Amino acid sequence: MDKQAPFEKIQVAVLGASGSVGQRFVQLLDQHPWFRITALAGSGRSVGQVYEQACHWLLEQPMPDWAKEMVVQPVSPDGIQAQIVFSALPSELAQQVEPEFAKAGMAVCSNAFAFRQEQDVPLLLPEVNPDHIELVQAQRQKRGWRGFIITNPNCTSTGLTIALKALQDAFGLQRVFAVSLQALSGAGFPGVASLDIIDNVLPYIEGEEDKVEWEPRKMLGNYEDGEVTMAGLRISAHTNRVAVSDGHLVCVSLELAQPAGLEVATTVLRQFQPPPASQDLPSMPRPVIVVCDQPNRPQPRLDRLVGRGMSTVVGRIRTDPLFHLKFVVLSHNTIRGAAGGSILNAELLVSEGLL
Ligand code: NAP
Repeated sequence: MDKQAPFEKIQVAVLGASGSVGQRFVQLLDQHPWFRITALAGSGRSVGQVYEQACHWLLEQPMPDWAKEMVVQPVSPDGIQAQIVFSALPSELAQQVEPEFAKAGMAVCSNAFAFRQEQDVPLLLPEVNPDHIELVQAQRQKRGWRGFIITNPNCTSTGLTIALKALQDAFGLQRVFAVSLQALSGAGFPGVASLDIIDNVLPYIEGEEDKVEWEPRKMLGNYEDGEVTMAGLRISAHTNRVAVSDGHLVCVSLELAQPAGLEVATTVLRQFQPPPASQDLPSMPRPVIVVCDQPNRPQPRLDRLVGRGMSTVVGRIRTDPLFHLKFVVLSHNTIRGAAGGSILNAELLVSEGLL
């Protein structure tokens, strides 16, 4: 059963509210059982306008009525009343402003790259490493902040790492080879020019391969005594932009520490359970991993909203002639890979008493 809110709804703000990820926050936080949006913030382009005017709404569901009339505020802790700040800002800006919110006593749940590689900043997937949340104590001490910053991974690392975690726990992991097919919403709005992507595939996404090769190793690493030791596995990633609106697909080949048959590996993925600390969070998908049996699935258009966009969808599990196993992973990039993941992290904060 879902954990119940033991309090009045917690006030939250969204920074970068008009963007591809910001809009998902507004949609997903509408009627959230624990959280209530009290501020939407954006750039000088939007500040002072009502959200309906400032935002080019891209989502299938209509903009919630309560959001339409909210006036967009500047990205500054002055004047923002919130305990939790969801940041959907470009990384360079996040680097400057997220610490200001943390200094002002707020819990920053960031989607940006800026702080993911800092040793004292948790990079979190509640299905994988909820124990890394302990890093916030070290962070507060070291930086002297009343608040803190936690981060969620890059949208391609997300589904990949969840699938890897199930296999790591069961068999250990040695080497991973991953090729992504990434959706357009991953590039923000307006994102990639239409004439660049129609009838085309872009085999380069700036900075992406480094993130996919590094981030899963931090999340799959071991937390002990205020530090995370990176997991020993090696990852090689190729990342590509394709003409799909939402949903990142990753084709994975991997070498396990202990070889496993297809049937056992499939069962392990299908039966994967989140750690006890996270399993009752309101946004935790059930099941965490959905395994498709059809030979031509998962597909972004058909499968990205499985588990309200929070499930990791795996299919085409087969033997790999070079390594041990190969399969395909699909994850909704702006839901599980961004706003939904960040909300799940915030739920973990609340549930662990860290606000
Ligand atoms: P986006 O669509 O380009 O939106 C960026 C947002 O930031 C807009 O709301 C924009 O506000 C605001 N902003 C830009 N410059 C600003 C400034 N100088 N001052 C204040 N606000 C400013 O980008 P996105 O795709 O939503 O990505 C947001 C963050 O999430 C990035 O760090 C990205 O790497 C990360 N992320 C994205 C995804 C994804 O799938 N898209 C997944 C995981 C992580 P205005 O509209 O008011 O100018």
